Amino acid sequence: MSPLMKQFLLLFVIAFTSIAVAQENPDLSQKLNVDFLQLDAEVSIFPRAESVSGNTLFKVQILNSIDSLFIDAKKMEFSEVLVNNIKAKYSNDGTRIWIKNKFKKGTNYEVSLSYKAKPTRAMYFINWDAPKELEVTKQVWTQGQGRDNSNWIPSLDDLTEKLLINLRVNFENGYEVVANGILQEKVSLNDSITQWKYKMDHPMSSYLMAIAAGDYSYRSLESATKVSLSLYFQSKDSLKFEPTYRHSQKIFDFLEKEIGVAYPWQNYKQIPVQDFIFSGMENTGTTIFSNTFIIDSTAFNDENYVFVNAHELAHQWFGNMVTEKNSQNHWLHEGFATYYAWLAEKEVFGEDYYYWKLFQSAEQLKELSDSGKGESLLNPKASSLTFYQKGAWALHMLKELVGKENFDTAIKNYLNNNAYSIVTTENFIEEVEKASKRSVDSWVQDWLHQSAFQGSEALESLQRSAFIKDYMGVAALRETPFSIKKELLSKALTKPINEYVGQEAIFQISGENSPAAIDLYKKAFASNNIMLRQAIAVSIDKIPLELKSDFFSLLKDESYITIENALLKAWLQFPEETAYLLEQTKDVQGFQNKNVRLLWLIINLVSPEVDPELSKAYFNELSQSTSKYLPSGLRQNALGYLYQLNAFTSDNLKDLLSCAQHPNYRFKNYCTSLLDQLLLKEEYRLQYAELHDTLNSTDKEFLTKKLEN
Ligand SMILES: [Zn+2]
Repeated sequence: MSPLMKQFLLLFVIAFTSIAVAQENPDLSQKLNVDFLQLDAEVSIFPRAESVSGNTLFKVQILNSIDSLFIDAKKMEFSEVLVNNIKAKYSNDGTRIWIKNKFKKGTNYEVSLSYKAKPTRAMYFINWDAPKELEVTKQVWTQGQGRDNSNWIPSLDDLTEKLLINLRVNFENGYEVVANGILQEKVSLNDSITQWKYKMDHPMSSYLMAIAAGDYSYRSLESATKVSLSLYFQSKDSLKFEPTYRHSQKIFDFLEKEIGVAYPWQNYKQIPVQDFIFSGMENTGTTIFSNTFIIDSTAFNDENYVFVNAHELAHQWFGNMVTEKNSQNHWLHEGFATYYAWLAEKEVFGEDYYYWKLFQSAEQLKELSDSGKGESLLNPKASSLTFYQKGAWALHMLKELVGKENFDTAIKNYLNNNAYSIVTTENFIEEVEKASKRSVDSWVQDWLHQSAFQGSEALESLQRSAFIKDYMGVAALRETPFSIKKELLSKALTKPINEYVGQEAIFQISGENSPAAIDLYKKAFASNNIMLRQAIAVSIDKIPLELKSDFFSLLKDESYITIENALLKAWLQFPEETAYLLEQTKDVQGFQNKNVRLLWLIINLVSPEVDPELSKAYFNELSQSTSKYLPSGLRQNALGYLYQLNAFTSDNLKDLLSCAQHPNYRFKNYCTSLLDQLLLKEEYRLQYAELHDTLNSTDKEFLTKKLEN
């Protein structure tokens, strides 16, 4: 064949292949041919029927003439499909609706869809089937990420398609309804339904759309730059409002200043919801977070909302204002949000705290890396540990490399030059090199491409903190005999005490009971430092008699971790003090999962001599904690204790069936494995068989399948 002919054929093959690719890949061809500009939607939510219906009006611009376009719509029914107000032909394959029309290049169209759906993902209906007399939390909330919002509203799963979205939500009266954007007005549609009209003024990806509805109140703050911050809470939690949202305004003002670009949306709302699948989700201007973060002042010392609060807020720039082109660039979301959250925590809790976080995550990353499982930050399938923490580490190292001023300039330009648009890692690197006037190739190689974690570089950076040096000095003594290191440990417990160094010293005393060790414990107790005292409660094996009264004093500490550990250990070692120990802790509930209260009930139940006439009431309280209307953390804790007691009632067995089908997959997995354990035993198989006829149809079907296995 002549070279020319060969070349001709080659061209032909290439041309043919690209047509074939375009035909096979409707996402790509739609991307090239259609620009979605705006979505105006009216969504009616029917929480008791767990269904939605609505109308969506899409404004689209046609870039190249086509004869159909699609909109993602999972398991929806359509009653009317119009293009420019004229009925259009369409096909619906259960995942997408294809609208057929001669769409002409350079022309704008309005595509309107009337739909209904019964979403099983992305929109969750909490407790609407509860009997009226039960006062339980009733909510509806959405979770769009990954690509799930098309389960409740026709929309674009492609996260690079950004459009202006205005939601009008119709919901029964008596509830607060929140969605992205600014609330323009509330209109009463009839005696029982109110329409909530929200409006956005910048485009966003569909996965960031959100609705939350429930029995909420809110308080509004204003940022230093006059952005309205609305903090939602349920009326029953009003006393927990302050500790839950502590430092919110400081975090907002700090991040806006540190990032150097004005907060990109009209307002910022935060809404806690029950049984949330994650810690938080950064929907545009509308963060939804788990109500396990609704805490009192005592719990604040143990685990609080500060990190998640800052992380989701940082996403409003990193992820929402500039959005990754694909998951190869996912660290541009999670690494950045984590890094800026660490900086916000540094502002709130101080520099040692920041270095402590860096240190802890370096330990985890090093372990992963040493086990051969290290991942490149650009690996689209990397783990959360890599995207979040290695990503944050990469930024920490980059800032050290180019200096804070250049780093900050790069961040500002990266955001401003790509505002409301799509970004890649190259966009960011380009700005860094421009601002710092140098190449960062070696950083790109070591921190983005390399799968191993750069342990020695990280260590060098950590050693800039005097506190980390001290800490490592003490941690290095772990294998040293106590008699040799006792002076050094004593120094770590002498004021001014660093909590982390002091805790490390206490962990190293564990198992010692010499007079010198007891002296150190005494010193730590007397410090009145909550975290040191917590370290004693968690790590001590055997409580020396000389420390008994000090140890009992832990029951009054401002930490639910301390109280739970102290109660359990004191009771195990001094059963003769049971009545006293229970009296000391009778009013403590603990976290949302009632960690202290349930333990208290259990101790009562196995010590009937203390309060014989109340045993039944205590058992009922424990047993009722598995109810399907309660928060999943509490239910899980109660189910775990009932398993240990081997005391499931038929109601508990029913509750276990419902939780094994729960939308929160972590909780569901826990319940499924517990149920599987029970079904290995003949007695429980029989009990379930007896229950069969009293179950609702969903549970019946589920159980039948389980029993067949
Ligand atoms: Zn995140």
